[in-house]
Amino acid sequence: MGKEILLGAFPVFFIFLMFLGINVAPLIIASIILFFLGYLLFRQGAMPMVQNKASVEVPKTTVKFEEIGGQERAKNELREALDFLIHHDDIKKYGIRPLKGLLLTGPPGTGKTLMAKASANYTNSAFVAASGSQFVEMYVGVGAQRVRDLFKEAKQKAEKNHQDSAIIFIDEIDVLGGKREGNQHREYDQTLNQLLTEMDGITTSESPRILIIAATNRVDMLDEALIRPGRFDRQIVVDLPDKKARKHILEIHIRNKPLADDVDLDAIARDTFNFSGAQLESVTNEAAIYAFREESDKITQRHFSYAIDKVMMGEQTDKESTAEERERVAKHELGHAIVSEEVRPRSVSQVSLRPRGQALGYVRQSPQQERYLYTVDYLEQQIMIALGGAVAEEILYGGRSTGSRNDFEQALHLVNTMIDCGLSRLGIVKMDMVTKEDLHEERQRILNNLLEKTRNLLHLHLPVFQHGLDHLLKEEVLNGDEFREMLEKYTLAPDSTKVEEITYKENLAGA
Ligand code: ATP
Repeated sequence: MGKEILLGAFPVFFIFLMFLGINVAPLIIASIILFFLGYLLFRQGAMPMVQNKASVEVPKTTVKFEEIGGQERAKNELREALDFLIHHDDIKKYGIRPLKGLLLTGPPGTGKTLMAKASANYTNSAFVAASGSQFVEMYVGVGAQRVRDLFKEAKQKAEKNHQDSAIIFIDEIDVLGGKREGNQHREYDQTLNQLLTEMDGITTSESPRILIIAATNRVDMLDEALIRPGRFDRQIVVDLPDKKARKHILEIHIRNKPLADDVDLDAIARDTFNFSGAQLESVTNEAAIYAFREESDKITQRHFSYAIDKVMMGEQTDKESTAEERERVAKHELGHAIVSEEVRPRSVSQVSLRPRGQALGYVRQSPQQERYLYTVDYLEQQIMIALGGAVAEEILYGGRSTGSRNDFEQALHLVNTMIDCGLSRLGIVKMDMVTKEDLHEERQRILNNLLEKTRNLLHLHLPVFQHGLDHLLKEEVLNGDEFREMLEKYTLAPDSTKVEEITYKENLAGA
């Protein structure tokens, strides 16, 4: 505001002088020269007139490692590295060079920023944060200047707070530190060079001591110069949480929330497979919002269930589907659910006919065990689950619909994984070594075989479709336990007669 008043006052002042009959030309020329000189000084960083835009100051971080759920290995590795910063005199005695950069790698929302903040708190360091994208500018030299400013700001902040160390956090480092290809010159080469120069300038005797923590989801994209020893030479993986860690994160985020007695955190942790810390935080928040909207005193398990669906699939939509479409969707989803429960008992957590995001219905699965390696059997079962919807439509309507597109994409992806990992009849191959025809043939062989198996399996469960359909059309949601009860009660014996099957099929087609 002050700047605008000052800018407005200048012309008024000159007009006033002209009004008095004073020659203002020399004054105008002198003002322009002074303004230009001031701008040049500012760009060199000699006169920091405006706060540096590249850095987002965080007053003093209060985040503690105890407030970060799971990630035990990452937290321990980080604490070990940070002890170098705390016991700097000892490391000097041993002639150990200072640790300059730590790289946190992992998917979005897993707590990398939280870790950087907790590191500043743990080491009593000043904390400044910036994001890689804030350094990428059209104008040559601006990014490099921002890097210089960031280091200066970190030092100034530490001095002001009487802290003898400072942590600079750079999120999305891949944006400014991506691989340099060929001789192509980019503006941000200068920015990256400036960062490397600043890092090389860090010494053990320097005060305040500086540590840079960077975060990325794409470590493979980083320039070699950044990750060589002496720069970001420690890499700490911050991965998606497993079930125990998910429960821990949930416990942290429900501390300030009123929970009903029926809330089962174990079940929520099981149902949130593959969720990041940020998504888990969102689940607790959305559950609280549902409770608030319903004017319920406490947050119940049902609110959590809605919240998981919302975070997983998106907001509920009010897509107006026809009665015929709803029935088809219900049968399609029941097809997935039946196969899922048959090949992996207790894996279905919910079948829903509520449209969410792009989906008209969905099955929420919760794996009983988290896996990092997949066998042929496991992959084949997963493909059968994906095909279950289309096969159900085929059996009950005599044909499929466009609703299976994503399922087929998933099935094909899994088939490709099998071939790529040497788990198919083609043996150990590289995809580009095999002719298109051979690949196509092998894919079709695998898929046809699994389609047949899925058909046989679903034929034994035709009555479940009828009962499941009735329930879904009435209640919209069928929870895992209700579904299992139905499956147990209405599954046909493997030797049941064809007549029974045909009657069920006719009933269902007419439903
Ligand atoms: P990005 O890569 O997208 O920048 P990030 O890994 O830096 O994400 P954060 O910004 O640290 O993720 O996490 C976002 C939010 O998610 C946090 O503010 C916190 O509420 C929650 N969160 C993430 N991980 C955890 C965790 N391990 N424990 C507790 N809360 C977490």
